[in-house]
Amino acid sequence: MPSVPFASSADLADKEATLEELAPGVFAYTAQGDPNVGCVIGTDAVLAIEARATPLMARRWIDVIRTLTDLPFGDLVLTHYHAVRVLGADARRIIATAATARLIEERGEQDWASEAARMPRLFAGAETIPGLTRPTATFEDAMTLDLGNRRVELRFLGRGHTSGDLVVWLPEERICFAGDLVEAQAAPYMGDAHIADWRGTTLHAVDALNAEQLVGGRGPVVRGPAVADAITDTRAFLSTLFDGVHEVKDAGGTPRDAYRATHAALAPRYAGYPIFQHTMPFNVQRAWDELDGIDHPRIWTVERDRQVWDELTA
Ligand SMILES: [Zn+2]
Repeated sequence: MPSVPFASSADLADKEATLEELAPGVFAYTAQGDPNVGCVIGTDAVLAIEARATPLMARRWIDVIRTLTDLPFGDLVLTHYHAVRVLGADARRIIATAATARLIEERGEQDWASEAARMPRLFAGAETIPGLTRPTATFEDAMTLDLGNRRVELRFLGRGHTSGDLVVWLPEERICFAGDLVEAQAAPYMGDAHIADWRGTTLHAVDALNAEQLVGGRGPVVRGPAVADAITDTRAFLSTLFDGVHEVKDAGGTPRDAYRATHAALAPRYAGYPIFQHTMPFNVQRAWDELDGIDHPRIWTVERDRQVWDELTA
């Protein structure tokens, strides 16, 4: 197998962003497979969903929001702890699950360094990051926000992409911002995941919302029957990888064997998806660990990233 550039380190061309109004005052800003963000315009303030990797990257999105409304920013919701979604944060109140707050304390520093090395393009203006983003309001299972003109529910639906993912649910409009629990035409990242829970009860709970529109972590907004398709597609990716690693492990193979087998199994359908190649070594290593009984995902560091990458893609 030819050697491949580390993670997304060679992915340096800017993506074209698309602003879509999903319902009056509800917007998604997607960017050809880069991390999606959104906002909901309330009566007195704007609710922001995700903060991007740096204040500079966040500013580019804020400039777009400023073409929509002059209202001040109120709450900022973070779907999970990954640096690429949180380090641009600056808001009156920053909301995440309690599990996400714990993960930031435990591994936020390492995750910042790891993600910056993996995805340099998304960290434009990295020198403007003031430090770790810490949520100022947390909840365990559910929280409801009253925006004056609509109700927004934040829900923890079970462990998945991380142990702390929330979804943003607009019950009247049946719109779901799913974070990285669901990807639409993009590869799921499983390096910090609880894969058995994710492909099982958690994705089932996302499905049970019966959303009419869904904004995944990456990829375009999906609507109608395409919502279930995106969930099914995400689950199929997780299962092919998890079951494939299990098979190789049972047969006495190595993580590198598992990487080769699952890469071959997934590539025909998923190789063209953004970050497919980037995610694969980390996905396989986490599946291996979970099958080994390691419930709490090991922390990725710059050194461990390289070590696993070199070992599995060699
Ligand atoms: Zn993530």
